[in-house]
Amino acid sequence: ERDVTFNAVAVPANGRAVMLSLEDISHVQAAGEMRRDFVANVSHELRTPLTALIGFIETLQGPARGDPDAQARFLEIMEREAGRMSRLIEDLLSLSRVESQERVRPTERVDVANLVTSASMTLGAFAQESDTELVVRGNEDGMEVIGDPDQLLQVFTNLIENGIKYGGGTVTVTLERQERDPALRGPALRVEVADNGEGIDPLHIPRLTERFYRIDSHRSREMGGTGLGLAIVKHIVNRHRGRLRIESQKGQGSRFSVVLPA
Ligand code: ADP
Repeated sequence: ERDVTFNAVAVPANGRAVMLSLEDISHVQAAGEMRRDFVANVSHELRTPLTALIGFIETLQGPARGDPDAQARFLEIMEREAGRMSRLIEDLLSLSRVESQERVRPTERVDVANLVTSASMTLGAFAQESDTELVVRGNEDGMEVIGDPDQLLQVFTNLIENGIKYGGGTVTVTLERQERDPALRGPALRVEVADNGEGIDPLHIPRLTERFYRIDSHRSREMGGTGLGLAIVKHIVNRHRGRLRIESQKGQGSRFSVVLPA
Protein backbone atom coordinates (compact mmCIF):
# COMPACT_ATOMS: atom_id res chain seq x y z
CA GLU A 1 0.00 0.00 0.00
CA ARG A 2 1.23 3.43 -0.91
CA ASP A 3 0.33 7.02 -0.10
CA VAL A 4 -0.12 8.95 -3.26
CA THR A 5 -0.75 12.62 -4.01
CA PHE A 6 -2.85 13.31 -7.02
CA ASN A 7 -2.27 16.55 -8.90
CA ALA A 8 -4.40 17.89 -11.72
CA VAL A 9 -3.25 20.95 -13.62
CA ALA A 10 -5.03 22.71 -16.47
CA VAL A 11 -2.49 23.36 -19.20
CA PRO A 12 -2.91 27.06 -20.04
CA ALA A 13 -1.74 26.76 -23.66
CA ASN A 14 -5.08 25.75 -25.09
CA GLY A 15 -7.33 25.60 -22.05
CA ARG A 16 -8.55 22.13 -22.95
CA ALA A 17 -5.80 19.80 -21.93
CA VAL A 18 -5.37 18.73 -18.34
CA MET A 19 -2.18 17.27 -17.00
CA LEU A 20 -2.46 14.62 -14.32
CA SER A 21 0.40 13.47 -12.16
CA LEU A 22 0.61 10.85 -9.48
CA GLU A 23 3.35 11.01 -6.94
CA ASP A 24 4.28 8.33 -4.44
CA ILE A 25 4.89 10.19 -1.16
CA SER A 26 5.26 7.15 1.11
CA HIS A 27 8.96 7.92 1.56
CA VAL A 28 8.18 11.51 2.62
CA GLN A 29 5.72 10.28 5.22
CA ALA A 30 8.13 7.60 6.42
CA ALA A 31 10.85 10.26 6.83
CA GLY A 32 8.45 12.45 8.84
CA GLU A 33 7.56 9.52 11.06
CA MET A 34 11.23 8.65 11.61
CA ARG A 35 12.00 12.23 12.57
CA ARG A 36 9.15 12.27 15.08
CA ASP A 37 10.29 8.94 16.58
CA PHE A 38 13.84 10.24 16.79
CA VAL A 39 12.84 13.42 18.64
CA ALA A 40 10.68 11.37 21.02
CA ASN A 41 13.58 8.98 21.67
CA VAL A 42 16.11 11.75 22.28
CA SER A 43 13.73 13.51 24.66
CA HIS A 44 13.15 10.32 26.59
CA GLU A 45 16.87 9.47 26.74
CA LEU A 46 17.70 12.94 28.06
CA ARG A 47 14.79 13.16 30.45
CA THR A 48 15.62 9.93 32.28
CA PRO A 49 19.02 11.06 33.67
CA LEU A 50 17.76 14.60 34.14
CA THR A 51 14.83 13.42 36.29
CA ALA A 52 17.27 11.41 38.40
CA LEU A 53 19.55 14.45 38.79
CA ILE A 54 16.69 16.72 39.86
CA GLY A 55 15.50 14.10 42.35
CA PHE A 56 18.95 13.74 43.93
CA ILE A 57 19.48 17.52 44.09
CA GLU A 58 16.21 17.83 46.01
CA THR A 59 17.23 15.02 48.33
CA LEU A 60 20.63 16.61 48.96
CA GLN A 61 18.94 19.89 49.78
CA GLY A 62 16.42 18.24 52.11
CA PRO A 63 16.48 14.81 53.75
CA ALA A 64 20.19 14.07 53.07
CA ARG A 65 21.41 17.30 54.57
CA GLY A 66 23.86 16.50 57.35
CA ASP A 67 24.32 12.88 56.22
CA PRO A 68 27.78 12.74 54.61
CA ASP A 69 27.50 9.03 53.69
CA ALA A 70 24.25 9.54 51.79
CA GLN A 71 25.66 12.68 50.20
CA ALA A 72 28.72 10.83 48.90
CA ARG A 73 26.56 8.00 47.54
CA PHE A 74 24.14 10.36 45.82
CA LEU A 75 26.92 12.48 44.33
CA GLU A 76 28.41 9.35 42.80
CA ILE A 77 25.10 8.47 41.16
CA MET A 78 24.69 12.06 39.99
CA GLU A 79 28.12 11.96 38.40
CA ARG A 80 27.16 8.79 36.54
CA GLU A 81 23.88 10.26 35.32
CA ALA A 82 25.56 13.49 34.18
CA GLY A 83 28.18 11.36 32.37
CA ARG A 84 25.36 9.52 30.62
CA MET A 85 23.86 12.80 29.38
CA SER A 86 27.21 14.03 28.24
CA ARG A 87 27.91 10.80 26.27
CA LEU A 88 24.50 10.98 24.67
CA ILE A 89 25.09 14.55 23.52
CA GLU A 90 28.55 13.61 22.18
CA ASP A 91 27.04 10.69 20.23
CA LEU A 92 24.19 12.82 18.89
CA LEU A 93 26.71 15.37 17.62
CA SER A 94 28.82 12.59 16.08
CA LEU A 95 25.77 11.11 14.40
CA SER A 96 24.70 14.43 12.97
CA ARG A 97 28.23 15.11 11.73
CA VAL A 98 28.61 11.75 10.03
CA GLU A 99 25.14 12.00 8.51
CA SER A 100 25.87 15.38 7.00
CA GLN A 101 29.19 14.14 5.57
CA GLU A 102 27.84 10.87 4.22
CA ARG A 103 27.92 12.05 0.61
CA VAL A 104 31.33 13.68 0.84
CA ARG A 105 33.99 11.20 -0.32
CA PRO A 106 36.91 10.95 2.08
CA THR A 107 40.31 11.65 0.50
CA GLU A 108 43.07 10.74 2.96
CA ARG A 109 45.37 7.74 2.74
CA VAL A 110 44.75 5.88 5.99
CA ASP A 111 46.72 3.07 7.61
CA VAL A 112 43.99 0.80 8.96
CA ALA A 113 46.39 -1.36 10.98
CA ASN A 114 47.54 1.75 12.86
CA LEU A 115 43.98 2.73 13.67
CA VAL A 116 43.16 -0.74 14.98
CA THR A 117 46.25 -0.59 17.20
CA SER A 118 45.20 2.86 18.52
CA ALA A 119 41.65 1.70 19.19
CA SER A 120 42.83 -1.37 21.10
CA MET A 121 45.31 0.67 23.10
CA THR A 122 42.63 3.20 24.04
CA LEU A 123 40.38 0.37 25.18
CA GLY A 124 43.12 -1.62 26.90
CA ALA A 125 42.22 -0.41 30.39
CA PHE A 126 38.50 -0.99 29.84
CA ALA A 127 39.23 -4.52 28.60
CA GLN A 128 41.30 -5.21 31.70
CA GLU A 129 38.61 -3.88 34.04
CA SER A 130 36.13 -6.15 32.26
CA ASP A 131 38.43 -9.20 32.47
CA THR A 132 38.58 -9.36 28.70
CA GLU A 133 41.55 -10.44 26.65
CA LEU A 134 41.93 -8.31 23.55
CA VAL A 135 43.72 -10.10 20.70
CA VAL A 136 44.72 -8.44 17.41
CA ARG A 137 45.66 -10.64 14.43
CA GLY A 138 46.91 -9.94 10.92
CA ASN A 139 48.09 -6.45 11.78
CA GLU A 140 50.67 -5.79 9.03
CA ASP A 141 52.29 -2.84 7.32
CA GLY A 142 50.71 -1.25 4.29
CA MET A 143 47.07 -2.00 5.03
CA GLU A 144 45.77 1.20 3.56
CA VAL A 145 42.48 2.60 2.37
CA ILE A 146 41.31 6.03 1.27
CA GLY A 147 39.26 7.26 4.18
CA ASP A 148 38.65 9.58 7.09
CA PRO A 149 41.02 8.53 9.91
CA ASP A 150 38.99 10.02 12.79
CA GLN A 151 35.80 8.37 11.61
CA LEU A 152 37.41 4.99 10.95
CA LEU A 153 38.99 5.12 14.40
CA GLN A 154 35.52 5.67 15.79
CA VAL A 155 34.21 2.61 13.89
CA PHE A 156 36.89 0.29 15.31
CA THR A 157 36.58 1.80 18.79
CA ASN A 158 32.80 1.35 18.84
CA LEU A 159 32.96 -2.26 17.62
CA ILE A 160 35.74 -3.30 20.00
CA GLU A 161 34.03 -1.53 22.90
CA ASN A 162 30.79 -3.41 22.15
CA GLY A 163 32.74 -6.67 21.97
CA ILE A 164 34.09 -5.99 25.47
CA LYS A 165 30.71 -4.80 26.84
CA TYR A 166 28.60 -7.64 25.48
CA GLY A 167 31.28 -10.31 25.10
CA GLY A 168 32.42 -13.11 27.31
CA GLY A 169 36.12 -12.80 28.02
CA THR A 170 37.93 -12.65 24.66
CA VAL A 171 37.63 -10.17 21.82
CA THR A 172 39.58 -10.98 18.67
CA VAL A 173 40.21 -8.35 16.03
CA THR A 174 41.35 -9.80 12.71
CA LEU A 175 42.64 -7.76 9.77
CA GLU A 176 42.66 -9.36 6.39
CA ARG A 177 43.35 -8.30 2.80
CA GLN A 178 40.91 -9.57 0.23
CA GLU A 179 41.82 -9.72 -3.44
CA ARG A 180 38.25 -9.38 -4.45
CA ASP A 181 35.24 -8.81 -2.24
CA PRO A 182 32.14 -10.05 -4.08
CA ALA A 183 29.91 -7.20 -2.84
CA LEU A 184 32.46 -4.45 -3.41
CA ARG A 185 33.64 -6.05 -6.65
CA GLY A 186 37.25 -5.26 -6.01
CA PRO A 187 40.14 -5.46 -3.58
CA ALA A 188 39.17 -4.85 0.02
CA LEU A 189 40.37 -4.77 3.61
CA ARG A 190 38.34 -6.62 6.18
CA VAL A 191 38.42 -5.86 9.88
CA GLU A 192 36.51 -8.37 11.94
CA VAL A 193 35.70 -7.94 15.62
CA ALA A 194 34.63 -11.24 17.13
CA ASP A 195 33.52 -11.88 20.69
CA ASN A 196 32.49 -14.98 22.56
CA GLY A 197 29.52 -13.46 24.34
CA GLU A 198 25.99 -14.70 24.39
CA GLY A 199 25.35 -13.83 20.74
CA ILE A 200 22.42 -12.11 19.08
CA ASP A 201 19.09 -13.56 18.02
CA PRO A 202 18.86 -13.34 14.17
CA LEU A 203 15.60 -11.46 14.65
CA HIS A 204 17.47 -8.42 15.99
CA ILE A 205 20.40 -8.34 13.56
CA PRO A 206 18.81 -6.26 10.75
CA ARG A 207 17.71 -3.62 13.27
CA LEU A 208 20.90 -3.21 15.30
CA THR A 209 22.10 -0.21 13.30
CA GLU A 210 18.87 1.74 13.91
CA ARG A 211 19.26 4.66 16.27
CA PHE A 212 18.43 3.72 19.87
CA TYR A 213 17.73 0.08 18.98
CA ARG A 214 18.89 -2.08 21.85
CA ILE A 215 18.24 -5.73 22.55
CA ASP A 216 18.28 -5.23 26.28
CA SER A 217 17.87 -1.55 27.16
CA HIS A 218 18.57 -2.11 30.82
CA ARG A 219 21.86 -3.86 30.11
CA SER A 220 22.92 -1.27 27.52
CA ARG A 221 22.25 1.60 29.98
CA GLU A 222 23.99 -0.27 32.77
CA MET A 223 27.07 -0.49 30.53
CA GLY A 224 26.83 3.24 29.78
CA GLY A 225 25.60 2.72 26.21
CA THR A 226 23.67 5.36 24.29
CA GLY A 227 22.16 3.04 21.66
CA LEU A 228 23.74 5.15 18.90
CA GLY A 229 27.12 3.44 18.43
CA LEU A 230 26.16 1.09 15.60
CA ALA A 231 24.08 3.77 13.84
CA ILE A 232 27.22 5.92 13.77
CA VAL A 233 29.27 2.95 12.52
CA LYS A 234 26.80 2.29 9.72
CA HIS A 235 26.89 5.88 8.41
CA ILE A 236 30.68 5.99 8.48
CA VAL A 237 30.97 2.67 6.65
CA ASN A 238 28.45 3.89 4.04
CA ARG A 239 30.48 7.05 3.53
CA HIS A 240 33.50 4.85 2.77
CA ARG A 241 31.42 2.75 0.34
CA GLY A 242 32.12 -0.24 2.53
CA ARG A 243 29.95 -2.90 4.10
CA LEU A 244 29.11 -3.77 7.68
CA ARG A 245 28.30 -7.45 8.18
CA ILE A 246 26.91 -8.84 11.39
CA GLU A 247 26.93 -12.57 12.00
CA SER A 248 25.95 -14.23 15.21
CA GLN A 249 24.64 -17.37 16.73
CA LYS A 250 22.89 -17.48 20.06
CA GLY A 251 25.29 -18.79 22.66
CA GLN A 252 28.33 -18.60 20.38
CA GLY A 253 29.25 -14.94 20.22
CA SER A 254 29.07 -12.38 17.45
CA ARG A 255 31.20 -11.20 14.55
CA PHE A 256 31.03 -7.64 13.26
CA SER A 257 33.01 -7.18 10.03
CA VAL A 258 33.79 -3.96 8.25
CA VAL A 259 34.84 -4.39 4.63
CA LEU A 260 36.43 -1.33 3.02
CA PRO A 261 37.46 -0.87 -0.60
CA ALA A 262 41.27 -0.94 -0.71
P1 ADP B 1 24.78 0.61 22.88
O1 ADP B 1 25.22 1.97 23.27
O2 ADP B 1 23.48 0.21 23.48
O3 ADP B 1 25.85 -0.42 23.03
P2 ADP B 1 25.02 0.19 19.97
O4 ADP B 1 24.36 0.94 18.86
O5 ADP B 1 26.50 0.16 20.00
O6 ADP B 1 24.42 0.79 21.31
O7 ADP B 1 24.47 -1.29 19.93
C1 ADP B 1 23.08 -1.50 19.84
C2 ADP B 1 22.69 -2.79 20.55
O8 ADP B 1 23.24 -3.91 19.82
C3 ADP B 1 23.22 -2.94 21.95
O9 ADP B 1 22.38 -2.32 22.90
C4 ADP B 1 23.27 -4.45 22.13
O10 ADP B 1 21.98 -4.90 22.49
C5 ADP B 1 23.54 -4.96 20.71
N1 ADP B 1 24.97 -5.30 20.51
C6 ADP B 1 25.93 -4.51 19.97
N2 ADP B 1 27.12 -5.15 19.92
C7 ADP B 1 26.91 -6.39 20.42
C8 ADP B 1 27.73 -7.56 20.64
N3 ADP B 1 29.02 -7.57 20.34
N4 ADP B 1 27.13 -8.65 21.19
C9 ADP B 1 25.83 -8.66 21.52
N5 ADP B 1 25.00 -7.60 21.33
C10 ADP B 1 25.53 -6.48 20.80
